[in-house]
Parts: sequence; C-alpha cells; structure tokens
Amino acid sequence: MILNEISPSTSTIFLKPDNRPFLIAGPCSAETEEQVMAIAHGLASQGIDLFRAGIWKPRTRPDAFQGMGSKALPWLQRVQEETGLRTTIEVATAEQVDEALKHEVDVLWIGARSTANPFSVQEIADALRGVDIPVMVKNPVNPDLDLWIGAIERVRAAGIKQIAAIHRGFSTYAKSLFRNEPYWAIPIELRRRMPDIPLFCDNSHICGNRVDLLSVAQYAIDLNYDGLMTETHIDPDHAWSDAMQQITPDQYKDLIDRLVLKRETSTDQDFLEHLDIVRHQIDELDLSILNLLARRMKLSEEIGEHKQQERVSVLQVRRWNEILQKMEAQGKEMGLSEDFIHNFLSAVHQESIAKQTKPGYRK
Ligand code: PEP
Ligand code: MN
Repeated sequence: MILNEISPSTSTIFLKPDNRPFLIAGPCSAETEEQVMAIAHGLASQGIDLFRAGIWKPRTRPDAFQGMGSKALPWLQRVQEETGLRTTIEVATAEQVDEALKHEVDVLWIGARSTANPFSVQEIADALRGVDIPVMVKNPVNPDLDLWIGAIERVRAAGIKQIAAIHRGFSTYAKSLFRNEPYWAIPIELRRRMPDIPLFCDNSHICGNRVDLLSVAQYAIDLNYDGLMTETHIDPDHAWSDAMQQITPDQYKDLIDRLVLKRETSTDQDFLEHLDIVRHQIDELDLSILNLLARRMKLSEEIGEHKQQERVSVLQVRRWNEILQKMEAQGKEMGLSEDFIHNFLSAVHQESIAKQTKPGYRK
C-alpha cells in the first residue's frame, strides 16, 4: 500500500483555516442526557470543533461503569440540533459502527485497545466500507508504530478518505508521572512517515491528572500537532469514568486561552536567514559526528579482531559500565542529560558489539 496518498484537501473536516488547533472536547462518558447537554452548551460557546463522548466504554474491570450504550445516541443528536456541534464517539465493533451511523454521529474514533488488535480494526473497517465518514485512529496501547500505521491503512483501504491520528500515550509497567507514557518519538515518526494525516494530542489520557494538561498540550503544539482532544465534564470530581483527568468547560477555556500557538514557519527574513546559518552549522557538526562514529567503529573492529585472536569475550561489562558512568558524568557537566547520553552510548555500544560479533569473526 502506498503511504501518504491522502492529500490535505481530502482531510477538510480536520483542518482549521485560522491556524489554531482543531479542538475536540467533551466527557469521557455520556452519563445522563442532562450531563451531556450541560457540557455541550458549556463547550459550544467556546467554539470547539467536535464534541466527544464515550458511549461504549472499554473498561479494565467488568464491575466498572461500561457506558450507557445506544440509549445515549439520541442525546448526541440533541447536541447537534441544539448547539450545531459535530459529534464523535468511539466504536469497537461492526454493530457499534451501524448504531453510530444510524444515529448520524459525525465522526468515529477507534480506541487504543482496538487499534492494538488488527481483527477489531478490520471488523470496523469492513463495517465502514462504502461509508463517507471521517475516522480518527488512536495509537495502540503498546508502543508499536507499525500497529498504529497498520490500523490507519486498514481504515484507508476500506475507502475512508478523512482520517486523523490521535496520540494518547502508551501503557507502561514502569512508574511514571503520566498515566500513559507519551513516547513523543513515536508520533514524530508517524508524522514523518504519514505527513498528510492530521495528528491530534489526547492530553487527558496521556496525563491521567488535571495539573499536567496544559504542559502536555503546549508540548504538542510546539511539535506542530494539528489538534487536541481533552476530556471535559460539568462535575469532574463525580464523573463515572476518568474523574481524575477531566476538567470543567471553564477550566478548558482557560487551558485553551493559555496555549501559546506556533506556526510551522515564519516569513520574517531575519529569522529565516538566522535559521539558515544555524542549520548549516548543525549540518556540519552532524557530519563531523558521523565521521567520528565511523572512526570509532573502525577501532571497535580492530579490538574485535584482537579479542577474537585471544579468545576474549566481546562483552566486557566492567569496561562498559566505566564508559557509561564516566561519560554520563562528563555529559552532565556539559549540559547533556543523563538519559540522552545513556541512550546514545547504548546505541554506539550495541553497534560495536554487532561489529565485533559479525560472522567474519565467528570462526
Ligand atoms: C477515551 O477516549 O475515553 C478512551 C477510552 O480512550 P483510549 O482508547 O485512549 O483509552
Ligand atoms: Mn476517558
């Protein structure tokens, strides 16, 4: 399948003409008709682009609130009629797709758990064949870019033209400040491989709390994301799902007002010239780094040959530890983070090992 075949002009619903992010907001779950209408009215006055609400909820435990189901769909039709807002819900099965279409939901989204399961995505895609409706695809719960891209391709192969991706972070066993680790490198790589797919940030499910919502949203805007999905509730503390991360429509307005919007580029000549000069310097330095790495690898190969002759093991843990500790400390003094040095040196070390164990040395 050819990537990038969607041109921006076919993704009209998701694009904002005035260079501000595409705004999706609404409750984690539709709970009652009154709750849905109160939130929708609170958000409509703020000019959001899409009203979200969960109808069928993919909850971890069976005794948790599972969503109101089809009963809540007419509430969303009332939202459309009374506020003029477009609506979006998560669908996970063919039956849910049919129900959503019957009730004229404007946009569908595929949730993180479904994206992780190609059978589910295919079932949804098959149910969408021949239907003209925009679809948003959340990243899978596990940090697997190909699975995310595969889900987008399945939806696209079903003939859906307007597709967006939602970055909602990734599950991790490690203790983290985030409910779902953002692993920003993954959506950045998605953007590189599918530059025409609008990319939104679900700051609510990344954070899992209210305090970090603004900083995560700002981070996404700094990375030139196209929009935000944020859970909003009239009474967040008493929400039936995801209470900790929801905010009121007024708090949402404050969050959006405080965002510093960014442009992809500028027309200011001084800025562009300065950028050009600095980029030139960076390109030269990158080339020097490549040259140094090539020299370093040559030395690794040389040592590899000696180790081979002496029947000395390739991995020398004590030496590797010494390098890491020394370089992390030195890097720190130069303003380079420990994490960065660790990751960088680990990649270099892996390559050295690969060089020293290449088939030629295994006699
Ligand atoms: C949601 O948006 O409420 C939801 C369940 O999201 P996710 O699929 O990202 O967990
Ligand atoms: Mn939620």
